[in-house]
Amino acid sequence: MDCKIAVIPGDGIGPEVIGETVKVLKKIEKLYGHSFNFTEVLAGGCAYDVEGVPLPDKTLEVCRENDAVLLGAVGGPKWDTLPGELRPEKALLGLRKGLGLYANLRPAILYKELQSACPLKPEIVGDGIDISVVRELTGGIYFGERGRREGENGPEAFDIEVYSQKEIERIGRTGFKIAQQRGKKLCSVDKANILESSRLWRSVMEELSKEFPDVELSHMYVDNAAMQLVRDPKQFDVIVTNNMFGDILSDEASMITGSIGMLPSASLGEGNKGMYEPIHGSAPDIAGKNMANPIATIISAAMMLRYTFGLEKEAQSIENAVQEVLKQGYRTGDIMSEGMKSVGTKEVGELIIEELK
Ligand code: NAD
Repeated sequence: MDCKIAVIPGDGIGPEVIGETVKVLKKIEKLYGHSFNFTEVLAGGCAYDVEGVPLPDKTLEVCRENDAVLLGAVGGPKWDTLPGELRPEKALLGLRKGLGLYANLRPAILYKELQSACPLKPEIVGDGIDISVVRELTGGIYFGERGRREGENGPEAFDIEVYSQKEIERIGRTGFKIAQQRGKKLCSVDKANILESSRLWRSVMEELSKEFPDVELSHMYVDNAAMQLVRDPKQFDVIVTNNMFGDILSDEASMITGSIGMLPSASLGEGNKGMYEPIHGSAPDIAGKNMANPIATIISAAMMLRYTFGLEKEAQSIENAVQEVLKQGYRTGDIMSEGMKSVGTKEVGELIIEELK
């Protein structure tokens, strides 16, 4: 298969974790007989240094032309005093908007080998956790009308939650499709006992479920979902929810897994296009020291193979290799525990490549 991939190493530890990830992809390319075409472009602080803007037009153009974008991280103290529009992080918003990426997918996976990093009791976690939160990214209260006004009792403020049927349908479809590729269970989270927008949300999900008879749809109020995530996280497979509820629940779900260096993400739009990145930032405190955990980025690349290119076997072989390296006791600093073997960014990359069969 021919795969066109735009690569944005970015700032801080970005180039280090992306470097190992590209090596892993090159091994997959060889093993499975694909052709991966990488085009490296600038975004973030390094783009500002060269081009004077965090997201040069050329970068967006290349990302549009490619099937998928693989990103390391952007930002750092060097650019912290720049005005808002020129800050490296602005590149992320520009890329999401410019590529029409309206669905954010954050899997929260707790590997058996890293159970000690989980704040929940072992009997709740069992043999591991694997939940995927699908969050609507470009609508709802974060993008609705907001303002201040004079009310009967003095000054007041308001933020309005608006969702169109179309917006709900497209994120709903993403949720169902992701569930089809996993455990075929989709939990739609809303607040339909109070909010009108949630009642529309729920009815659209019900309607959509007719298109996906192989997926079991359930509904849950957001307050209950927040509780169930710590009471019995294993009941969840895929959660689909709006922008604000997803913001909160995906953070809660990711905390269950302990380490920031382990968590991947995908932002998806129409068709199969997607941007894949670790959830962590550029970690300036450890940049250039071969200390960063590259696993979040490597698993993000596995998500890219699965969701943009439909290469399930290849995605799984990366995930299995990661698990095998963890099983053998190799750990970067962020997931280190007693009795384990301490390794750096490059060594983790090499170990994973060795395990790829
Ligand atoms: P951060 O995620 O970069 O770092 C938080 C802590 O986690 C640090 O101690 C860091 O060393 C550690 N850490 C992060 N990733 C790690 C990894 N892969 N392996 C081992 N340890 C890791 O968050 P921050 O310090 O708040 O932000 C630093 C910069 O990154 C800021 O400029 C911020 O704006 C930017 N940022 C970028 C993104 C992104 O590019 N998507 C996301 C968040 C923050």
